[in-house]
Amino acid sequence: MKVLKFGGSSLKDGISMKRVGSIISSDDDEIIIVISAIYGVTDSLIEFMSMPRQEQDVQWFIRNLRDRHVRMLADVASSMFVKQRAVNLLNEKLIRLERILYGIIYLEELTPRTKDLVQSFGERMSVIVLSAMLQDMGVNAVPVEADELGIITDGQFGSASVDMGVTRQNVQPRIREMISKQEVPVITGFFGKAPDGTITLFGRNGTDYSASVIASAVEADSLEIWKDVDGFMSADPKVVPGAVPIEILSYEEAAELSYFGAKVLHPRTVEPAKAQDIMIRVRNVFKPDYVGTSIGNSEKISDARTIKSISSMPDMAIVRAYGPGLGSRSGVLSEVSVLLSEAGINVYSAATSQTCISLLIEEVDLKFAKKVLARAQSTIVDRIETEKGVALLCVVGEGIGEMIGVAGSVFGTVAANGVNIGLISAGASLAALTFTVKREDLEHTTKTIHYELFGR
Ligand code: ASP
Ligand code: MG
Repeated sequence: MKVLKFGGSSLKDGISMKRVGSIISSDDDEIIIVISAIYGVTDSLIEFMSMPRQEQDVQWFIRNLRDRHVRMLADVASSMFVKQRAVNLLNEKLIRLERILYGIIYLEELTPRTKDLVQSFGERMSVIVLSAMLQDMGVNAVPVEADELGIITDGQFGSASVDMGVTRQNVQPRIREMISKQEVPVITGFFGKAPDGTITLFGRNGTDYSASVIASAVEADSLEIWKDVDGFMSADPKVVPGAVPIEILSYEEAAELSYFGAKVLHPRTVEPAKAQDIMIRVRNVFKPDYVGTSIGNSEKISDARTIKSISSMPDMAIVRAYGPGLGSRSGVLSEVSVLLSEAGINVYSAATSQTCISLLIEEVDLKFAKKVLARAQSTIVDRIETEKGVALLCVVGEGIGEMIGVAGSVFGTVAANGVNIGLISAGASLAALTFTVKREDLEHTTKTIHYELFGR
C-alpha cells in the first residue's frame, strides 16, 4: 500500500491535473491519494477573511470559486454523468461555505475556529474535482474528507498535531475496507478535527503532514510526496546555482532541513512516517522517471555521515534578556521559553551565559515576544534587547555533531570571509549545526560554505 500526495502547485489547471492523473493511473500498487486545495484557493479564502466584507462580496466570491472548480472539472472530465455528480457535490460544499461566510458578516466576528473551518473548504472541493477526473479515466476514486474519516487532532487552531493512536483506530479499518473494494480514496489534506468535532488546520502546506499521518495510520509501505521540484538540494538553487539534488536523506536530516528553512516539506512531515519506519520519497511531477529524494532510517542509508545540505531562514531576530546571575538560576530559561511558546512563538535556538539569555525567533514575532517577555521583566529579567536583520544558516548531515573538524572548517571559512557569527547551536541535534549571521551576509556566506563543502 502506498500513499501519494499532490500539492496545489500540481493542481493549477486542467493540464497539470491531467499530469497528476497519469502518474496515478500508471501506478499498479494499492494507492491512497492525499491532496491540497487547487492552486491559490487557500490564499483566496484567507484573503477574503482578511478584511470587512458585505453580503454581495460573498455572492461574487462563491461564484468565482464555483467557476474555478467547474471550469477545471470541464477540462479534466468528459462524462456528463461524472461531471454532473461532481457539480452537485461541489454545490453542497459551496452552499455550506456561503452560509458560514454570511455568518461571519452578520455576526461581525471572526474567530480562530471559523478561520480554520473556512480554509478547510479548499481541500473539500479539490478532492471532488480530482476524483471526478479519475472516475472519468476508469479509476474507482472516492472523495473522502479528513474529519469524516476520523483524523483527530489536539484542537490547536492553525497548527494542530494529530493524535496518532485514535486516528489509526479510525482510519485504518475504513481505508482497508475501501481498498478491498478496489476503491481509491482521495483524501483532503491540511486539516483534521479535534475530539469535539472542531476543524483544525496543520498550518500552511500541511497536506504533507496529513499524507504522512495517513501513511502511518494505514501502515503503508511508502509515502510519495509529489512536487514540482527534484526534491531536496544541497542548497537553495536560487542562491547557489551549483546546488546538487540529494538522493538520500535520513529522517533526522530531512526533519532538520524542513524545520530550518528548506521549503520542500512541511516541517512536521517526517514524524509520523518515521514512527512507522515508512520510506518517504519526494518526487517531481515533471520528471516521473527521476528518483527524487528518498528519506528513511539512518541505519539503512548507505551514504550516511556526510554533509548533505545547507538551508537558511532569512527573516530572524534575536531577543536578549539580561539579569544578574540569570544563567545560574535554575528554571529561568524554561520560564522564558514557556512564556514564548504559550504565546505561539517558536524559539529556534537559545544560548545562556551568566548574565544573559539569547533567543532566536522569527522577526515577525519580535514585537509580540517583547510584550510577552515584559511580563517576566519585573521578576527575573531587568533588561531586554533585540536585534533585527538576522539570518539563520543550518548545515545538515547525519553525525555532524561527532564529525571532528566540520564545525571548525565551516566557521573558519565564514570568518576568513570577514563575516561575523552570532548565535551558534551545535549539539542540539546530532544532524544539524546552526548559526546566525547578519541578513546582508546570508547569500555570500551560503555560497562560500557550499563551495567549501561541495567544491562548487
Ligand atoms: N492548501 C493548504 C495551503 O495552501 C495546504 C497545503 O497546500 O498543503 O497551505
Ligand atoms: Mg501547498
